[in-house]
Amino acid sequence: MRLSRLASRLQGSNNPACLHNRGDSPTVSDSIQLVDTHCHLYQPVFEHTLEEVIGRAFERGVRAMVVPGLDLETSEKAVLLAETYDSIFAAVGFHPNSLGPDPGDPSKALRAIKGLSQHPKVVAIGEIGLDYYRDRIPPAVQKQWLSAQLILASEVGLPVILHNRNSTHDMLHALALWARDESGKRLGVLHSFEGSQDDAEALIRLGFYIGFSGPLTYKKADELRSVAAKIPSDRILIETDSPFLTPEPHRGKRNEPGYVLHVCEQLALILQMSLQDAVRLTTDNAIHLFQLQLAQS
Ligand SMILES: [Zn+2]
Repeated sequence: MRLSRLASRLQGSNNPACLHNRGDSPTVSDSIQLVDTHCHLYQPVFEHTLEEVIGRAFERGVRAMVVPGLDLETSEKAVLLAETYDSIFAAVGFHPNSLGPDPGDPSKALRAIKGLSQHPKVVAIGEIGLDYYRDRIPPAVQKQWLSAQLILASEVGLPVILHNRNSTHDMLHALALWARDESGKRLGVLHSFEGSQDDAEALIRLGFYIGFSGPLTYKKADELRSVAAKIPSDRILIETDSPFLTPEPHRGKRNEPGYVLHVCEQLALILQMSLQDAVRLTTDNAIHLFQLQLAQS
């Protein structure tokens, strides 16, 4: 969809934040305040249902959503969503799988990303990273774009949202180099983490957060759950990665931000705390990393 069309569709719509402010019937949302730190709400699959999806997220207590771009076009869409909805924040950047076969030098494309990053509702550079599972783009090219975007994040003073698949060794190497020069603590998050205890510890030592999504709820994910149990509680984030990686009990259906509640319920069980405490913990962490200004509800 062209941006202008998306804009007019969104602007003509009711903002669920306003609906809630008008004091509609009490729901679970009155007692909990969740943040979905990673959802791709500009995906075509949401095109005709975005209002309902965001409304359902509100009913389930989601107060903020971070929408990361995958390339320039989707980064612009993420910013537009953030302009339209109080509860949406954007991240901007190039995902490794979005780089064309010959993406060339990153400097020109990143000038546009840098421009977008100045928007007050852009809270991170992302989604950036490495993906050697899909090996269409040579690792050397992916690494070049990753480091250019890490440098950009430092320049503009934003944390990063990282994607990593079959590329942990090179990812940790790139992050270690970058983190060495960072004095601040807002480094970023490795999203939808499914790695080992050693990987998690290495990331935490460097100063990163670990983001958990639907796979934490899957029956066979005992190992991942035991990794989550050992992560310092001030480094854990939750997310949906909508429309992908749907958590139980909705696995097999399209994912949406309201389902972050199930990830949080699972985390509460793992950390042996109340749901309320798990919500507070993960929301505090998200606010701290992304410096979110949550709208008053
Ligand atoms: Zn993603």
